[in-house]
Amino acid sequence: MSGDDKLHCFSFGQQHFAINANTMIASRICSESASYLSGNQSHKAYDALSVTAKSELDALYQGHKTLKGKNVSTPSISDDPEGKSSAQAGWDGRISCIALFVTQICNLRCTYCYGGAGEYGNRGVMDETTALRAVDWLLEHCGPHEGRISFFGGEPFLNFPLMKKVAEYARHQAGKQGVRMNFTVTTNLTLLDREKLDFIHDFDVMTIASFDGPKEIFDALRPSLDDSSSYDKAMKMLPELLAERGRMVNARATLVPGSDPAAVQTAINAAGFLRSTMVRAARSPYSDFSDIERDKAFSEKRLAFTSSNLRLFLDALKNRDEAQIGRLSKTLGISLPTRDVFLSRNRVFLGRKKYKCGVGRNYVAVSITGDIYPCHRFTGQENYRLGSIFSEQPIKPDFYLPPVDAAEKCRSCWTRYLCGGNCLHENVCETGDIRIPCDRMCDYEKQKNEMQIALWCSISNDDYQWLEQCRVISADECKLDFG
Ligand code: SF4
Ligand code: SF4
Repeated sequence: MSGDDKLHCFSFGQQHFAINANTMIASRICSESASYLSGNQSHKAYDALSVTAKSELDALYQGHKTLKGKNVSTPSISDDPEGKSSAQAGWDGRISCIALFVTQICNLRCTYCYGGAGEYGNRGVMDETTALRAVDWLLEHCGPHEGRISFFGGEPFLNFPLMKKVAEYARHQAGKQGVRMNFTVTTNLTLLDREKLDFIHDFDVMTIASFDGPKEIFDALRPSLDDSSSYDKAMKMLPELLAERGRMVNARATLVPGSDPAAVQTAINAAGFLRSTMVRAARSPYSDFSDIERDKAFSEKRLAFTSSNLRLFLDALKNRDEAQIGRLSKTLGISLPTRDVFLSRNRVFLGRKKYKCGVGRNYVAVSITGDIYPCHRFTGQENYRLGSIFSEQPIKPDFYLPPVDAAEKCRSCWTRYLCGGNCLHENVCETGDIRIPCDRMCDYEKQKNEMQIALWCSISNDDYQWLEQCRVISADECKLDFG
C-alpha cells in the first residue's frame, strides 16, 4: 500500500465503490476492500487482505487502473487543463460571456423569483448607449475567437427592439474582429410571436425557457400581472419554437419545496422539450424565499427520485431495454459520461473541476445601468459590484481563486473536484460568506455525486457502445449553466 491520498468509500444498491479524491480515479470494489476502508485501515489489516482486495486498493491509492491487463499511469496535476489555466497560471482576465440585463422588469410575478419581480432592486430598462457599450466592452474582454451575450431580465423580450439592435451591432462589430458572437436568451416564453421566433432563428439564439411543470403548478408559481394563465401564454408559440429549434431550447424548471420532480419532468417531456434542467428555488436579498425544514425534506425527495431512476436505469442497461433507457436518460438527474471521459478510463472523471461556474471570472452580469456584477444573481448587490462598463478600470478579480482551494471546508472535502464548490451566491445567502458553503447544500451534493460515481463505474465497455448505438450518450452539452 502506498500513497497519502484518502479514499472515499460508499455503497449503492448491493455494490461498493471508492474514489481517490485527488486523482479522481474511482472504481467498484469488493466487499472485503469496502470493509477494510470502513475500518481502521491499519497495516496489519491491510496485510491480511486477499490479493484481489490489495490490488484493487493499490490501484486506487497509487493511481493505476488496470484495463484489459494494461496499467495506465495517473495524470499529474500539471496535466489538468483547469488547474493550468486557472489556479496555476493565474486568471487570464478574459470574460467570454455577459448576462445583459436589457430589462429589470417582468410581466410575471413568480413566487420564488430571486430578482424580486425581476427588478433586482432597480426597476427599469436598459438604454441603447449602455447596451452598445456593453457589446464593445465584451469585445474588448473576450478572447480572439468567440464571445457570448445572454439576454437576461426581468423578461428580456419586454425590450425586444433593443435585443435586435444589440444582436445586429454585436454580430457586425465581432465580424470585423474575426470573433464569433453567440447569443442566448432566458425567457418566460409568454411574449413570443412569429417575429421573435424569426429573431431566434436568424441569430441562432440558444433559448433557456422557464417551464415549471403542469399547468396548475405553472400558473400557481408563475402568476401573470394581468391574472391570465401564464402557462397558456407560454404554450402558444412553444410547439413552433421546439419544432424549429429542437435541442437549442432548454427547459429550466424551478422546483420549490412541495414540487414533485417526477410530475414536473413528465410535463416537460409532454411539452416536447428535448433537454431540460431542474434547479431549486434559491434564497436572495430580493426575495425571502426560505424554509429550511421544507427544503431539507425536498432535497431528500429529489435524491430519492434520482436514486430510484438510477436503479431502474442500471436494470434497463443490464436487460438492454432500449425504450426504458431512452425514457430514463431524460429524467436521470445526473449526467452520463462523455465519450472522452469514458474512453480514458484511467481517470474516471477527467479534469478536476475547480469552479462550479464562471462567476466573476469568465462570466459576469451587466445591469441596466452598466454596472458589472459577478453573475446574474448578484445583480444590484452593491457589496459585490465589480466595476462598470463605462470605466477604464479593470474589474475586481475577487472571484478568480478556485472555491475548492479558497474555501477551508472544500479543501478537505472528498468531492471537491466533482463539485467545484457550491454556487457562491447560495453561499452568501445561506452563510453570509462566499467562501462558506452550508452543510445542507453539501450533504445534497455529496449524495448526488456518489450516485454519479456509482453510475459511471457500473458502465462497461459493451454497455457504453450500446448506449452510443441507442443515442443515449450525446456529445453536445448545454453551453451555459445559469443556476
Ligand atoms: S460539497 Fe461542500 S465542502 Fe464539498 S466541495 Fe462542494 S461546496 Fe465544498
Ligand atoms: S452557480 Fe451560482 S454563482 Fe454560479 S453563475 Fe449560477 S447563480 Fe451565479
